[in-house]
Amino acid sequence: MRGVVKSIDAVTVAKKFLVRGYNVSPEAAKIVASFPDPELLIAEVCKISRNSFIICEEDVISAIRSLELRIKGSQRAESEVKKKEHHEKAQERIRVLRDVGNLVVEGSVEDFVAYFNSRLEKLSKIFRARIQPTPIRNLGRVRGEVVNVVGIVNNVLDKKESVIIELEDQTGTINCIANGKLAETARELLGDEVIAISGTLRGNSILADRILFPDCPINGNKKHVDFGVVFISDTHFGSKGFLEEKWEAFVRWLNCETDMSDLAEKIRYIIVAGDIVDGVGVYPEQENELAIVDIYEQYENAAMHFDEIRDDIEVIISPGNHDAVRQAEPQPSLPKEIAKLFPKNVRNVGNPALLDLEGLKVLVYHGRSLDDIVTKISRLNYESPQKAMEELLKRRHLSPLYGGRSPIAPAKEDLLVIDEIPDVLHSGHVHTYGTSYYRGVLLVNSSTWQAQTEFQKKINLNPMPCNVAVLLGENVYRLNFSGG
Ligand code: FE
Ligand code: ZN
Repeated sequence: MRGVVKSIDAVTVAKKFLVRGYNVSPEAAKIVASFPDPELLIAEVCKISRNSFIICEEDVISAIRSLELRIKGSQRAESEVKKKEHHEKAQERIRVLRDVGNLVVEGSVEDFVAYFNSRLEKLSKIFRARIQPTPIRNLGRVRGEVVNVVGIVNNVLDKKESVIIELEDQTGTINCIANGKLAETARELLGDEVIAISGTLRGNSILADRILFPDCPINGNKKHVDFGVVFISDTHFGSKGFLEEKWEAFVRWLNCETDMSDLAEKIRYIIVAGDIVDGVGVYPEQENELAIVDIYEQYENAAMHFDEIRDDIEVIISPGNHDAVRQAEPQPSLPKEIAKLFPKNVRNVGNPALLDLEGLKVLVYHGRSLDDIVTKISRLNYESPQKAMEELLKRRHLSPLYGGRSPIAPAKEDLLVIDEIPDVLHSGHVHTYGTSYYRGVLLVNSSTWQAQTEFQKKINLNPMPCNVAVLLGENVYRLNFSGG
């Protein structure tokens, strides 16, 4: 560090130059004398004017310029260090509690058996706190009493008046008969979910009194945070339908360049729930709807857009069915050669992934199974995706129906079970928007940045693009950028 700088007059300046073997013009000496740190400037002038005998104004001015450049450079280096420190601290604040990792799946018969055993095992555990189930094989020894069974729904047969549920556990299968109001509940079963039934034995069947879902405790509390979290999904970079101008408006808001910056400046995290790019060959004739036909270039484009977001916000990206990872869920995070395209403040996780952001537990899941749920349960629709998401929490499973529209990779452990109840369940995929609380859990389905595609027109899906959910304090804000 330089101490207090002494100011000197032009004569002293001329003397100092003479000592170093240089003559100096009076104008040049005057400039040097008025400089805040003349000694520093004299040294710089001598350094860059090695071959001249008389120092003139131009020499001094170019020395000042080179000094300024050096100061700016060191300031920049300082701010780079600060940014890096900030980023490292932010990375420490984010904990990935559960992720897919490099799960290798072969899909053999044994894999399927192990997979469903894991599902049954994990979800039975949740029931054990409430009921004591009898293994199905042992039911023959129970007489006329009330029984509880826990199993996977194998089949649902609608007999109009009643519904027969075939339930299977590790020891056997049994038919359970649901009448009246219970039949309505039974009609909403997707198949392959784990439920409990209590009832009385009637010959080889159970006459059901109650159908229980693993569900979440009723007394769950909403989580409040003192920082802002932005939820978005289905950006579909590379699609002709990508709403670039609207996205730019969103980024301007994030970067506090609009008059709504009160909320924006509190944003610390952005979570992206999949379909980062539009992908290639996802559905027939998709190439007609692509602005960028190369998948790598789609990600380059995505990375460029994320790079425009202010870098003190940490971005967490989870993939979807349009992304360059295997289709079957759980999906690993984007491969290294793609992840490296993104700026430093972007972290890639799998689908699903359970995150801990300074104590806020966010379960991010793209939401492919929502197609199955909306198709199967007639009271649900795409306009209120959060209602369909409730069904996932009820079943404590992210993709209950096996062999529907959502392919599952059968691993030894069923990673799609919701073991731990999150504070937020965040999905996308359906391109509509909706938020609500279910038993203390915030459900968010966070819209899209793609206009309606030809394919969506055919299946009559009306997207609600450019909606953003923000959690801050006790509030969930809905921001709409479709005005651009
Ligand atoms: Fe999508
Ligand atoms: Zn999707």
